[in-house]
Amino acid sequence: MRIAVVGGGIGGLCLAHGLRKAGLDVAVYERDLSRTDRLQGYRVHINPDGAAALKECLPAANWARFEQSAGTSGNGFGFLTEQLKPLLVLDPEEEKHYSASRITLRQVLLDGLDVRFGKRFERYEQDGAITLHFEDGTTAECDVLVGADGIRSRVREQYLPHAGTEEVGITAVAGKLFLDENDWVPRRLLDRANSVVPTSRCGMFLVSHDGLGYTDADGVLFDNVRPYLMWAYAANDLDLREGLQRAVLRRIEGWSPELRRIVESSHADTVSQWRIRSSKPIEQWESTNVTLLGDAIHAMTPMRGIGANVALRDAQLLARKLAESGIDGISAYEAEMYDYGFAAVRDSLRAARQFAEGSPFSRTLFRTVLRTAAAVPALKRAMF
Ligand SMILES: Cc1cc2nc3c(=O)[nH]c(=O)nc-3n(C[C@H](O)[C@H](O)[C@H](O)COP(=O)(O)OP(=O)(O)OC[C@H]3O[C@@H](n4cnc5c(N)ncnc54)[C@H](O)[C@@H]3O)c2cc1C
Repeated sequence: MRIAVVGGGIGGLCLAHGLRKAGLDVAVYERDLSRTDRLQGYRVHINPDGAAALKECLPAANWARFEQSAGTSGNGFGFLTEQLKPLLVLDPEEEKHYSASRITLRQVLLDGLDVRFGKRFERYEQDGAITLHFEDGTTAECDVLVGADGIRSRVREQYLPHAGTEEVGITAVAGKLFLDENDWVPRRLLDRANSVVPTSRCGMFLVSHDGLGYTDADGVLFDNVRPYLMWAYAANDLDLREGLQRAVLRRIEGWSPELRRIVESSHADTVSQWRIRSSKPIEQWESTNVTLLGDAIHAMTPMRGIGANVALRDAQLLARKLAESGIDGISAYEAEMYDYGFAAVRDSLRAARQFAEGSPFSRTLFRTVLRTAAAVPALKRAMF
C-alpha cells in the first residue's frame, strides 16, 4: 500500500510520521520549494488532544524537541470589559497546553521526513492505482491519496466538488506588539489569554507569547525569538479602506488607552487582515481510496483555536486505521472524523458569531452572566 499525502502542513506531516512509525510506505508532496520557505506566522495553541496526537505519531526525539521549544500556554483565560475591568477569570487547566510557534512546529514535524518539495499538486487520475499530476509536469503513483492540502484543497475540489468553505461575514485584523520594546503593557494582559467583551458588536482577543526560538540539528536558528502580545479585533462590518490599524482605532475610540496604544504601537508589517471562512455542511460521502484531513475537509473559524488540534487528531486516527485495516480503515476513519470534525466547525462558527456579533442587549446579558459566575464559584464551575 503506497500512501501519498498531498500537503506538508501540520496535519499531513503528523500523519506521515504516524504512518512511518507503523512501518507503512508514505510519500509527502508539498508545494513550498524548501523547508524554510514560509518563516512567518503566529503561535498556535496545542491543547492536550493535539499534544497526545503529536506524542503518539512523532519519533521520541522530535516530540522531545517539540516540548523543549514550545512555551506553555493555558495559564487560564480572562474576560474583560473594553476598559480592562475583569468580568471573569478562569483558572488554568491541570492538563498541559502548549504555545507552539508555527515555524518551529513545522521544523520539528519536518525533521526525519523526506518531503518532496516544489510539488504543487494539480489533479489525480484513478484507474486502479492513482496517478498524481503536479504543476511541474511530473507524476507519481499511489494506492491511497490523502489530501492534507489545507483550506483551498485541490484534492477536495476534485474529490468532493460540492464541499468547500464560505465567508461568514466577519473580518479580523490582527497584529503583534513586541514586548521587548513595550514594557508598559498591563500585567493582566500578559498573564493569560483574554477576550474583551464590549457592549458593541465586535470583540478583541489578546495573548502574549514568550520569546522562544528553535535551533535545528545543524545549528540553524529558525523563528523570531522576540516575545510579543498578539491581538486580534473582529467585527462583521469593518471598513478597512483607511488602513488596518486606523480602522481598528476608529472602532475602539473610547476603549481603554492601553488597548488603543497596543494597536497603535504594533509594527505595521505585523498587522494583517482575514476574512473568516468556515466549511459548508455536507452529507457524509461513500469512502474510497482517496481521503482528506484537517482544513482540507473541515476548515473552521479561528475563534476556538482548535483547527490545528483537530487536524492532528485526524492524523492520529487515520494513521491508526490505515495501520490496523489497510485501505478498509478509511471508512472507519471518515465515520469518526465526519462527526467530530464538523461538530468542531459548528462550534467554532458559533464562537465566531458570539465573539464578533450579538446585539448590545445579548452582550450586556453575557457580561452580567460572567460577573455573576465570577461571584458564585458553584455557577462558575457549572458553566465552565
Ligand atoms: C489566525 C489563525 C490562528 C489560528 N490559531 C490556531 C490555534 O491557536 N490552534 C489551533 O488548533 N488552530 C489554529 N488555527 C487553525 C490552524 O492553523 C489550521 O486549522 C491548521 O493549520 C490546519 O492544518 P492542515 O494540516 O489541515 O493545513 P495547513 O497547515 O494549512 O497545511 C496545508 C499544507 O498544504 C500545502 N499545500 C496547499 N496546496 C497544495 C498543493 N496544491 N500541492 C501541494 N501542497 C499544497 C501548503 O503549502 C501547506 O503546507 C488558526 C488559524 C488562523 C487563521
